[in-house]
Formats: sequence, C-alpha cells, structure tokens
Amino acid sequence: SAGPADMDPVVWAKVKDHPCYSEEAHLYFARMHVAVAPACNIQCHYCNRKFDCANESRPGVVSERLTPEQAAHKVLAVAAQVPQLSVLGVAGPGDAACDWRRTKATFEAVAERLPDIKLCLSSNGLALPDHIDEIVAMNVDHVTVTINTIDPEIGAEIIGWIVHNRKRYTGVEAATILRDRQLQSLDMLRDRGVLVKVNSVLIPGINDAHLIEVNRAVKARGAFLHNIMPLISDPAHGTHFGLTGQRGPTPAELKQVQDACDGGARLMRHCRQCRADAVGLLGEDRGGEFSLDSLPDEVE
Ligand code: SF4
Ligand code: SF4
Repeated sequence: SAGPADMDPVVWAKVKDHPCYSEEAHLYFARMHVAVAPACNIQCHYCNRKFDCANESRPGVVSERLTPEQAAHKVLAVAAQVPQLSVLGVAGPGDAACDWRRTKATFEAVAERLPDIKLCLSSNGLALPDHIDEIVAMNVDHVTVTINTIDPEIGAEIIGWIVHNRKRYTGVEAATILRDRQLQSLDMLRDRGVLVKVNSVLIPGINDAHLIEVNRAVKARGAFLHNIMPLISDPAHGTHFGLTGQRGPTPAELKQVQDACDGGARLMRHCRQCRADAVGLLGEDRGGEFSLDSLPDEVE
C-alpha cells in the first residue's frame, strides 16, 4: 500500500513490514528477538539484573540466553517454519550496544544466510555513538533508544550509575553523560537514515509530567516513533532497589500522558513489551516452541 497520507514514501518503505514500526504490519509480519546481550553499562533503579532489560520487556521474564552461533542457528530454524518472519531484533536481556561484539557477531552470522531479514536493536544509548558506523554498514535500519528523561536531575532519580569509557559515574553527572549520549545517538542515527524509536518508561511521580518534554525533544531530533511504556512494578519480580515501593501507572494515567503528547512525535500504542527471546506476531509469543534444545541440529 502507499502508506498513510502524512508519511514520506521512503520512510513507509522501511516501516511497512516491521511489526513494531507499523501498526498495520503487526498483523502480518513476525519478529523474533534473540537474547545474546546479557551485559549492561548502566543501572536503572527499576531493573532486576536477573531478568530481561525492563526498558523493552515486561519484568519478571528470564529469556533463553544464547551465544551468537546458537542464536544464528535458532533464527534459521525459525525462518524455515515461520514464513512471516521479517525482523530479527537484539533487545537484551541487557543492552544490545554494551557488549557490541556479541550483537554484531549475531547479525553478521544471520545476514550471511538470510540477507533479506531486517535487523533491529534496542539500547539505553550510552554506547551507541561508538557503533553507528557498523550499525549502518550492517544495514541495521531500526534502532530503539530508551530515554526516560532529558533532565539530569530526574535522571539521577532513575539510574544509580553508569560505566562509560571504563569509568564509573553516579548521580547527576552520570545522568548528564547518559542524556548527552542518548541525544547524540538520535542525531547520528537520523543523519545516517536509520529509523529510530524511542522508548520511555512512565514512572509515576518521577517522569510523568516530564515525558511531554521528552516527546518534543525526540521529535525535534527526528525520532520516528515514541513508545511510552508503563513501569510494571511487582515485588514478586525482585527488588526495584532505589525505587522501593514505586508503583506503576494505571491505564488511565498512561493514556493521559500519551494524550498529552498528541501533536508531537508519533506514538506507538501497540507495543507488547515482548520478551528478549520472543518469536512470532506481536501478542502471539511462540518462543517456547523454539527453545534451543527443541531445534533440529541442521537447518538449511
Ligand atoms: Fe536494566 Fe535495561 Fe536499565 Fe540496563 S538499561 S539497567 S538492562 S533496565
Ligand atoms: Fe515491538 Fe514493543 Fe515487542 Fe519491541 S517490545 S518487539 S517494540 S512490540
């Protein structure tokens, strides 16, 4: 189809078969995530490291962690059985850009055998600027950057520390470096023609009133889509240390913030907060069918 009237045809060509970037595509095209990226270079207060990155997934989920070789094997097996598979993403269980060699090795191994699959990744943005050239060279055409705030005072309430260039930073200093690297990532990706989705985790009382500013700032930097996700806070998922007792938003609060952002960056309202090893159409997770030990040894 020609796509929505307000969308550039060049952009539409890139989004039309990505289920997260196009609400229409999510009915017809499948994505899979492979959990090849366990490391993270920041500490969000709401994260429990035993589980998947809470910036993309529902908390409390432990994905099947794979080496790049195992992941490539799994992608080929899934592609043979799921004809709608159009997108391979690396979304954790930590940060896809932190231990970049693992993400890169996975993409290279898959692209060699499945040259038409679209590649995407998600990151907190801290390490992204170092890898933009390779991201572009590998034809990764969709990147998600999680940006919960552009105000370092608020940022210092959301993260505990970062490790940047082998140095550890805390507080407002850490949040400032993170913010600057995130915005730099948006600029660099836009300049190279990579489509960017921004995720923001809505944390009541911390960044709820501020997300409209995030929305405007990411729009100004060319982000294609803004995905405002609810913090899912459940003590059963472990300690959200630093944000102890922090609740998630009600559906009405989430909608109110999304509505307030109307007219800014286009909002994604169909995100399912998928697992870092999700397989299938959005909302239909077939990951369990394709665990490593259920796969055939040889796939061609
Ligand atoms: Fe956890 Fe993701 Fe934050 Fe890293 S970026 S600390 S994995 S929620
Ligand atoms: Fe798409 Fe959201 Fe699932 Fe990521 S978590 S694959 S953006 S629906």
